[in-house]
Amino acid sequence: MDIRIGHGYDVHALTEGLRLVLGGVEIAHTKGCVAHSDGDVVLHAICDALLGALALGDIGKLFPDTSDEFKGIDSKILLRRVCNEVEARGYSISNIDCTIAMQRPKLRPHIDNMRSAIAAVTGLDTDRVSVKATTTERMGFEGREEGVSTHAVVLLTK
Ligand code: MG
Repeated sequence: MDIRIGHGYDVHALTEGLRLVLGGVEIAHTKGCVAHSDGDVVLHAICDALLGALALGDIGKLFPDTSDEFKGIDSKILLRRVCNEVEARGYSISNIDCTIAMQRPKLRPHIDNMRSAIAAVTGLDTDRVSVKATTTERMGFEGREEGVSTHAVVLLTK
């Protein structure tokens, strides 16, 4: 069996009055992510983990932020396209694990909705999709609520 691991990391700045979309779920909050797309830092980190596993570069290479095609785009569409690249090479996703670092709001009530949304896009069972959240104890840019970051790891098999 051919096994490949991938890691992704993404950060977006937070600004008052923008939509906050994380893990494919819109979350009511006073701030949202500044981005060319919908700014879904969780799905972007997962895309980069999948691309990393296949050594295909990163999300910016596939979907340039200079392209009007991707302006305000639902990141679920980007993730689906990356899954197509994975499947085209004969790989399947074994599991996805990600950690969101954000001070506020509390993400726990949204975690299962994110897992379901990611499972729906990737075609995985929800028990193969893990989403975790942590604060950074008020330290760093996440702690100051200037931004949100996400790490993701994936395992692919063929
Ligand atoms: Mg991004």
